[in-house]
Amino acid sequence: MKEKRPFVTRFAPSPNGWLHLGHAYSALVAQACAQAQGGAFLLRIEDIDVGRARPHFVDGIEQDLDWLGIDWPTPVMHQSTRFEIYQQALDRLRDMQLVYPCWATRRDIAEAIADKAPDQDSKNWPRDPDGALIYPGLYRDIDDAKRQDMMWRGGSYAWRLDMQRACEIAEAKNAGPICYTEVSTGTPQRLACDARAYGDVIVARKDVPTSYHIAVTVDDAAQNITQVTRGKDLQAATAIHRLLQILLDLPEPTYFHHQLIRDVSGRRLSKQAGDVGFRDLRQQGMSRDEVMALLPPLLP
Ligand code: GLU
Repeated sequence: MKEKRPFVTRFAPSPNGWLHLGHAYSALVAQACAQAQGGAFLLRIEDIDVGRARPHFVDGIEQDLDWLGIDWPTPVMHQSTRFEIYQQALDRLRDMQLVYPCWATRRDIAEAIADKAPDQDSKNWPRDPDGALIYPGLYRDIDDAKRQDMMWRGGSYAWRLDMQRACEIAEAKNAGPICYTEVSTGTPQRLACDARAYGDVIVARKDVPTSYHIAVTVDDAAQNITQVTRGKDLQAATAIHRLLQILLDLPEPTYFHHQLIRDVSGRRLSKQAGDVGFRDLRQQGMSRDEVMALLPPLLP
């Protein structure tokens, strides 16, 4: 029988803005789960987006968490120091012939979609569960000579996962459909997930040898995370993470996808929309208890 691993969960913000109330909720839920299980809570800084991550946002995150009464062991893992490790995972996928280089720009993709569906517009083109247009396959089926030629030309390229092949191999390895365990309702549920809905996702961007999907999957395993705690906005992407875990022989955590915090009009909070950073609330003189009172219960 497999030994039960000690409970470890994490809060993994990207430091490209101030934390908003939704992040505070996420961190508090993770901390509450760790306390309830007598386990550990880790902070991980997801700063692979080197163009947008800023050190003062890391400081801000730490100050906000501290004010919320959360503590975490140090040193804190920073993803920007781990590109070599992600490269190794990417190399493994490449050795399995599951990834291919893709030189397409956004514009090339839009044009390819328009060519493939001349009488429609991109509104009718299939989209992934997060709303992005499915990649139209541009550089998937080119022959080796063309690929070599493109490599020699030296343009920058991303790496994409050959999703169909990756799913077939993972399903064979897993001896059946891929599932994950959702624990946010209090009763663990085994849910089926199929990453095919995402098409050939990018697993390494043009500028760095990884993407969110590889980095998060590799690091959850490296930090012995037994429960991934994050918002429901990332629940669909769990299909990609389970697929990568199987392909890369990484252990399977459980998942707690908590509800998203909405503003008074019912809109989801987001950094892009410039929502009130929760440091503003505290600078306005709100107490921790007053902030907590704005949030739903932490545990089911
Ligand atoms: N870094 C991601 C974000 O800030 C969260 C990743 C995760 O929890 O899996 O949205």
